[in-house]
This record gives sequence, structure tokens and C-alpha cells, in this order.
Amino acid sequence: MENKCCGDWNFSGSHAAREASTAHLGFYSSKILAQCDFEKTIYPPLGEPALAHDVAENAVVQAVKNGRGNAYAPSIGLPAAKKAVAEYLNRDLPKKLAPEDVFMTVGCKQAIELAVDLLAKPKANVLIPSPGWPWEVARSIYKKLEIRKYTFHPEKNFEIDFESVGKHADENTFAIFIINPHNPNGNTYSRDHLEKLANLAKKLKIMVVSDEVFRWTVFGNNPFVPMATFSDIVPVMTLGSISKGWCLPGWRTGWLALHDLDGVFKCTEVVSAAKEFLGITSKPPTVIQAAIPTILDETPQSFFDTRQSFLRHKAELAYSRLDDIPSLKCDFIPEACTFLWTKLILHKFVDIKDDVDFCEKLAREENLVVLPGIAFGDLSGWVRHSIDMDTLTLDIAFDKLTDFCDRHTNFSLATASSTTDGA
Ligand SMILES: *Cc1c(COP(=O)(O)O)cnc(C)c1O
Repeated sequence: MENKCCGDWNFSGSHAAREASTAHLGFYSSKILAQCDFEKTIYPPLGEPALAHDVAENAVVQAVKNGRGNAYAPSIGLPAAKKAVAEYLNRDLPKKLAPEDVFMTVGCKQAIELAVDLLAKPKANVLIPSPGWPWEVARSIYKKLEIRKYTFHPEKNFEIDFESVGKHADENTFAIFIINPHNPNGNTYSRDHLEKLANLAKKLKIMVVSDEVFRWTVFGNNPFVPMATFSDIVPVMTLGSISKGWCLPGWRTGWLALHDLDGVFKCTEVVSAAKEFLGITSKPPTVIQAAIPTILDETPQSFFDTRQSFLRHKAELAYSRLDDIPSLKCDFIPEACTFLWTKLILHKFVDIKDDVDFCEKLAREENLVVLPGIAFGDLSGWVRHSIDMDTLTLDIAFDKLTDFCDRHTNFSLATASSTTDGA
């Protein structure tokens, strides 16, 4: 029947994005969500982001009312927004950005796409974190850019395994992408670690592209340090947005900042490439860009403090609930972001094959959505739990998780076996 429908038309859908689309989180989250019963409450509740601050709402209302956001903005961004972002990032930087070093983008996602697009060339390759939030993976596949994955030391607070970085880099490598604070590992890199990374990148003659979209949800002992602190060692691109810090992902506004080193970005034509790419893509709504100066300047510190202590409490609570679940292992209380990243002790489960199987059965039986490790790289056997919900909801979610794991494990079998974790 379908075939008949296709009929004798000249068109058909392109497959160009097919492979890339399966490399992104959305591919797995929709598969898992499809197992849920939409007649009942789904955990975590869908489409309920944390509340934004009045400052942001009023700033947009103002921009609408006074008509400052009705016109097209320049492709590289509204000057007032670029200046505000530069000044905001400069608060923590020894080497200051100028407004023209900042480009406004459609969320941090478009900043990632821009970073990939403006560097992708035939034969070039890029170093990408595994695990990692995989937007640059999807974009690189789409652009036919070779991906080389580097790994971490989970036992050393998820520091980057510099040996794996060095091993994969060659003369066609142009950049290392980092995520700091890291999604899904949930850690923040120390100053010392970032400085070592800067020196390694310099030795490898590559730039560092740092996705810092989660820098406002840091609640551990390690303070956030921007990668651009070391832009006197190596050229750095900083990617960010108001999505996670200001709880406004739907406003689709972010940025890419070029922290140049002695004019390297200019003479390698990175700056002109950025302008050219932005000239042919869409931009964030002018009305939100017009509100950016007020949003960045006037959101009180207490807003971030409250959010951070909320998340710290949830991270500790979620971590403590794992005591009752011997088949899940987590050695690290997250110090940032909104997740708990745990390892499945697969041999303790009677009828769970891998992380995807775990997540699908959990969704089907408990209406609870967690994401499989495979969605963040080739890292099977891990799962990412959201902790961004009120205490009552988090408790229900972990009750469900505990029941599920109890039901699917067989302890007498597990002790008798000498298989190692994740076998
Ligand atoms: C959510 C997320 C993004 C996307 O940010 P937007 O501003 O919503 O486009 C980028 N990077 C990481 C690591 C994220 O978790």
C-alpha cells in the first residue's frame, strides 16, 4: 500500500542526516519514552523545567514593548548582546574579550555546530569526549568529519585521560572538545587539570573548544574555572547559553566566544569563517538578544545560589538512595549538572542484557525514564538519572528504581559467580 502511495513523483527524502540523527540523545530518549504509559505520570515529569527568574521575563517584555527586538539582527549577533556576553565572561578572565570576539547563536547547540562547521575539512579529525553529551558527534558525522574519542579516569574524579588524548592526535587533528562541567560525568575540572590540558593542546598544535553551558549549576568543592583562563597558552573557543543556568532552554539563545592567542584565529581565518557560516544560518530571535544585557547583568546571585543548593541536596539524596540498590554503582557524588551517572553491575541482573535493555524495561514497568550510557558514546553499561526534581518526586523515582532492580536481580546467583562488573 505504501509503495502505491509513493507513486510516480520526482522527490524523496534525503538520507544525509540519517546516520547523524541516530548519534544523538533524542534518538534514545524517544525510544525509551515510547515504552511509557502516557495515561499515567511519567518520571521525571515531562516538560517541566525549573522556574526562571522575573528579571529575564521582564527583560523580554520590555524588549517587546519598546520595539527593540522587532528588526532583523546582524548575522553575527546584536551588538548590545555581544557586548554584554563579552563583559559577562570577562568577569572571570585575565585576558579580556572584545564584543567582536563574541558571536550570538541559537542556543549552545548552534554554537557547537558552528565550531564543527567552521573547522571541518576533508581528512581533518577532532577529539571528542566519550562519554559526552553528543551534539558535536552528531554534527561531525553529518559533516563527514572523523571523530576520535578520548576517555576519562572515573576513579580520579573523571579527569581526562591525557594518554588517550595524545594517542589519538595526529597532524590532521584540529581541536579537542571538552565539556566543563561535564555532562554526564557530573564533575568540574580543576584549574591545574585545565592548565595541563592547555599545555598538551599547545604541544599537539590544536585548539580547545570548551562547552561551558553547565557552569552555573556547580555545587561541589571544585569551583568552576573557565578554559579561557589559559588562552595565553592555547587558542580557546568558549560555548555557552542561557539554557541551563537561567533555566530558559526554550529561548534558544547562546554564544560562541573566540579567545585568540596572538592573532592565531585571525590569521588562520577562523574569524572570517565564523562570520561566513553565520551569514548563511539562522540567528536567535532579536527580541531575546535585546533582553540579554539585562538578563546577564541583573539576575541576582541568589537565583544561582538557590538553584545550586537545591541541586546539591538532590545529588546527595539520590546518591544516598543508591545504598539500597546493590546492582548500581556510583563512586562519585556529582559536583555539577543535574544528573547522577551510575554503572550497572550487569552480572547481578537476572534478565537485563545491557543498558538499553535496562532503560526500556524500567520505562515499561515503572514509567521511569533514565538514559542509557550508549547514548553518550560507546559506553555501554552505564545509565544517567535526572536529579532535577523536587524531593517528593525524586523519592518516588528512586523507590521505583529500587523496586525494579530488586525484581531483576538474583543475589544468590550473583555471589556464586565470579564475573567482573559489566561482563
Ligand atoms: C543541554 C546541553 C547543550 C545544549 O544547550 P542549548 O543552549 O539548549 O542549545 C549543550 N551542551 C551540553 C553539554 C548540554 O548538556
